[in-house]
Amino acid sequence: MESGGDKRRVVIVGGGIAGSLLAKSVQFNADVTLIDPKEYLEITWANLRNMVEPSFAERSVINHRDYLTNGRVVTSAAINITETEVLTTEGRLIGYDYLVIATGHYDPVPKTKEERLDQYQAENQKIQSANSILIVGGGPTGVELAGEIATDFPEKKITLVHKGPRLLEFIGLKAGDKALCWLKSRNVEVKLEQEVDLKSIPDGTEVYQTSMGETIEADCRYLCAGKPLATSWLSETILKDNLDKRGRLMVDEYLRVKGHKNIFAIGDITDVPELKQGYLAHKHALVVAKNLKVLMSGGKESKMSTYEPGSAIAMVSLGRKDAIAQFPFTTIGGCVPGYIKSRDLFIGRTRKQMGLPS
Ligand SMILES: Cc1cc2nc3c(=O)[nH]c(=O)nc-3n(C[C@H](O)[C@H](O)[C@H](O)COP(=O)(O)OP(=O)(O)OC[C@H]3O[C@@H](n4cnc5c(N)ncnc54)[C@H](O)[C@@H]3O)c2cc1C
Repeated sequence: MESGGDKRRVVIVGGGIAGSLLAKSVQFNADVTLIDPKEYLEITWANLRNMVEPSFAERSVINHRDYLTNGRVVTSAAINITETEVLTTEGRLIGYDYLVIATGHYDPVPKTKEERLDQYQAENQKIQSANSILIVGGGPTGVELAGEIATDFPEKKITLVHKGPRLLEFIGLKAGDKALCWLKSRNVEVKLEQEVDLKSIPDGTEVYQTSMGETIEADCRYLCAGKPLATSWLSETILKDNLDKRGRLMVDEYLRVKGHKNIFAIGDITDVPELKQGYLAHKHALVVAKNLKVLMSGGKESKMSTYEPGSAIAMVSLGRKDAIAQFPFTTIGGCVPGYIKSRDLFIGRTRKQMGLPS
C-alpha cells in the first residue's frame, strides 16, 4: 500500500474525459492517483477526424503527465476494490480516502501515445488505399466516420449499413433525417434496417451480403457499434449491488455511489438519466471536484453541490464544415453548427480546459 502523505488520498479509476478533468482539478488539493491502462487521455470526439488526418491526433491524444503535474499516474487497469484500497492487474494495492470511478466504455486501445498515433496512421493508409468502404452502424460514430471520409475522399464509394429504421437513434428523428439527406448528397449509400455480421466474416473479404440478401463490395470495412460499459470489473466488488440492470453505477445527487460516503462515480458509467456525452462527463467531474474539496476541507455534507441531469443537447459533425445540432426545442443542420463544432472539434477548447495550450 502506498502512503497518502499529509493530504487526503484521492484515487481516480479511469483517465478518460471525466477522470482526467477531475484529476487535473483536484491535483493541488489532494494526493491524487490516476489509474488508467493507457498513458494518455484521448479526446474521443476527434477519433474519426484522426483517421482521415492522423496529424490531428497530436493534439487530441494527450499524455496524462502533461496535465497531471502534481499527481501519480498508475498505468494499469483496476480489477477490484475494497473499502480502503484499489487492486490493479499487476497486483498493486493503492489506498484511498476518496475513490472516484470513471471507467466509461470499454475500448481496448494501445498503451502509449506513440502507438496510438501509429494506429491512426495505419487506419489512414487503409482508407487511402481503399476504393470502396463499408461502415456498419449508423449511430454517431458511423455517421461521423462516413462524413469524414466522404469529405476528404469524395472519390471513394462508401456504403453505410444500419440495422435500425433511422440514423442517429440516440437523438431525435429530425437529426437522423438531416444526417441521411447530407450523406446521400455526398453519394454515401445508406442501407437502413439491414445488417452485416462483420464478426463472422474474415478479414480480406471484399463482397458482403446484408441480412436482406443485398450484395456490397468493399475492400475496407469498419464496425461502428456502441461499446460496452467498462463496469464488469465491479461485479464482484463491494459495489456489485450498486450496479443497475444496465451495468451503470447508481449515484445520488452529489454523484456519490449510493450508500457510500467516500466513493463517487462520474461520466458514462453513471445512471444519471441523460444522454451519455463528454461535455456532461466534464460537468460531473467539476461537481465532484467541488464536493471533494468541501469534504477534504472538513466542510459539511450539506455544502456539497448537487448535479442536475443535462438536457438532450448533442452535435454530430459531418466532415469539416457541416454538422447537425440538436437542442431541446429545435434541430439544425449545415454550416452554422459546422462552424461551431466541425473545424476544430472543440479540441482547442478541451485542451485549454486541461490547462494546455490550444
Ligand atoms: C467517436 C465518438 C465521438 C463522440 N463525440 C462526442 C461529442 O462530440 N461530444 C460529446 O460531448 N461527447 C461525445 N462522445 C461521447 C464522449 O466521448 C463520452 O461521453 C465520454 O468519453 C465519457 O467520458 P468518461 O470519462 O465517462 O469515459 P471515457 O472517456 O470512455 O474514459 C474511460 C476511461 O476509463 C479507462 N478504464 C476503463 N476500464 C478501466 C479499468 N478497469 N481501470 C482503470 N481504467 C479503466 C479507459 O482507459 C478510459 O481512459 C463521443 C464518443 C465517441 C466514441
